[in-house]
Amino acid sequence: MHGRHPSAQVAQYDDTYCLIDCGEGTQSRLRAAGIRPFKINLILISHLHGDHVFGLPGLLSSFSHLQRTEELTVYGPVGIKGLLDEIRKYTELKINYPFQVIENDPKGLQPMWSKGNLEIFTFPLNHRIKCNGYLLKEKIPLFRLRKEIVESMKLAPALIHLLQTGQNIIVNGKMIENRELTYGEELPLSYAYCSDTQYDKRIIPWIKNVSVLYHETTFRNELLETAVITGHSTAGDAGRIANEVGASCLLTGHYSSRYKDVVDIIREAGEHFPHVLESIEGKKYNLRLLGRHSGGES
Ligand SMILES: [Zn+2]
Ligand SMILES: [Zn+2]
Repeated sequence: MHGRHPSAQVAQYDDTYCLIDCGEGTQSRLRAAGIRPFKINLILISHLHGDHVFGLPGLLSSFSHLQRTEELTVYGPVGIKGLLDEIRKYTELKINYPFQVIENDPKGLQPMWSKGNLEIFTFPLNHRIKCNGYLLKEKIPLFRLRKEIVESMKLAPALIHLLQTGQNIIVNGKMIENRELTYGEELPLSYAYCSDTQYDKRIIPWIKNVSVLYHETTFRNELLETAVITGHSTAGDAGRIANEVGASCLLTGHYSSRYKDVVDIIREAGEHFPHVLESIEGKKYNLRLLGRHSGGES
């Protein structure tokens, strides 16, 4: 495995913590990343291969042991309900908190969940078994703050929210125009999760102009045939999709365990698309910065 773990990511937007896939070891990886597991209020499972779901029963069980009270919703492909029902039956797994499982079998881009300024869509990927991709997207684009000025003013969160939504504010009885404190409106931030899948042009209109595209790059280009047979993508496939989608940034991942490092994968994807990044385990990425092509990370 060359030190790499199965798939699991956390996408955070305001108070939404969304765990995307839950391979074995996710609990310990969450701890290592300093993410409090109770904060996770949504779990999105792409498909039922073990490297994406074997960590889920353990996580659900731990939530009960730790006396979670917060609501939790798991979304996944058809079959996930049956899988969890059987595990609960045979292992006496108890779930003592508000919990629901919702199955999706999308035929195209399908709205799935919404709260505040965040909306989540699901769409089909092209894998050996039913597999769902996810698109997390801001409903309303936010205005980009002139950070240093805004921070020096120590504004209340409500005033910052007004600025981010394009409004003027009043401080100490004096009106300050929005353009003095922001750079204007940005494109709506969006993040697409596409793993596991082979190269499939159908997804292009569904994730057009996405800010950050996570697309699997299991194989180098020389294993194209293996990629097609196993329902996975090469580095070149992901680079082409990122280019055709008009993404701002491509985050690669789901690397085959045969590769000790992924330098060649990044290079091969980069032959088709200029902004390619390696997914580094445990690392936090600021999607807003990545979506501006600046390559910024935090
Ligand atoms: Zn798979
Ligand atoms: Zn996989």
